[in-house]
Amino acid sequence: MIQASSEKQVAIKVDNARKVYGHPETGFVALKEVNLDIYDNEFFTLLGPSGCGKTTLLRMIAGFESVTKGKIELFGDEISALPPNKRPINTVFQNYALFPHMTILDNVIFGVKMLGETAGTSKTRAKEMLELVQLDQFSHRKPSELSGGQQQRVAMARALAPHPKVLLLDEPLSALDLKLRQAMRVELKRIQRDAGITFVFVTHDQEEALAMSDRIAVFSQGELQQIGNAKDVYDAPENKFVADFIGETNLVDVKVDKLSEGKAHCVLPGGASITCPSAAAAHKGEGHISIRPERLSLGKAGTGRLDGTVIQQIYLGTDTQVELRLDDGEALTARLQNSSPDAIPDIGAVVGLDFEEGAARLLVD
Ligand code: ATP
Repeated sequence: MIQASSEKQVAIKVDNARKVYGHPETGFVALKEVNLDIYDNEFFTLLGPSGCGKTTLLRMIAGFESVTKGKIELFGDEISALPPNKRPINTVFQNYALFPHMTILDNVIFGVKMLGETAGTSKTRAKEMLELVQLDQFSHRKPSELSGGQQQRVAMARALAPHPKVLLLDEPLSALDLKLRQAMRVELKRIQRDAGITFVFVTHDQEEALAMSDRIAVFSQGELQQIGNAKDVYDAPENKFVADFIGETNLVDVKVDKLSEGKAHCVLPGGASITCPSAAAAHKGEGHISIRPERLSLGKAGTGRLDGTVIQQIYLGTDTQVELRLDDGEALTARLQNSSPDAIPDIGAVVGLDFEEGAARLLVD
């Protein structure tokens, strides 16, 4: 597992935390022992497919779910037993539920007043937060007079107004349409930077995670698979799950005959050999290398590391996806930029496939 070493202060420490729903011995294990550190002022994302346990972990940090085993610390203090309202943590949910009869300003004031602050302080903080989300000019409108993205920003302002140390965001963009979601990615990152606090963001959308996060924790079936920044998890996945879940990839069967200092010597189908980067836990013998579709180039048959036949071309605007089949039946995908001068080969053509050694990576199954 890749974990960045850093001198930064740890905001949240998840220490051997396990979650079993129902009976601790016989119930459903939603999270196996999870260990991770989330740094102060970090945009940290919990990413994985539906049911992998990411919301469970977020709810454990918020205090809405108990920790079956292990503990959770906030800036060095154990918080596992504290109720949600005693944690200096706030959550923004997917359905942000603003009060329809209140103005935007009153909606945000509400979040601070709940903490027992005076009317004056609540109003000042609410105004500051509406400025932060750039909605101060709309403070007298009702929620129904705002767009979906603007309403989501009001929900952010309301959650930030009590000055939490950590803001948790549970798929907050999933109710928005694609264009708005893309715009909100940029906006959320800016708000996090300007607010200067830790954001823990849950999503199943890998593109969203890559676009916004300082670091990403990838989960599958209740288990943490890898932690790293966007480039780490995309360019240097540890295992097949991460390679496949983060973007698209080609998995090519290889025979590994030598492993040393993070490099693997592998024999490809067809007999060519390469020395490529290797996952830490990879082993000799049968294995798989991952090569991203955009790292494959196509040329004349016999000139590349592999030969394949073009099965299909799919025009996608900026690029063309080319589906290929190797002699042993393995299917591969290449993505060729439509702006590049390289011709897209015809369906049925036999071509040579090539890639730089650094573009391949030997994985753990
Ligand atoms: P999604 O993206 O669909 O929300 P998730 O990764 O956030 O998925 P969780 O909500 O954390 O997943 O759920 C993890 C597993 O725990 C799932 O299999 C789910 O069915 C199960 N689970 C969640 N809540 C409970 C509960 N209260 N009782 C029993 N099982 C639960």
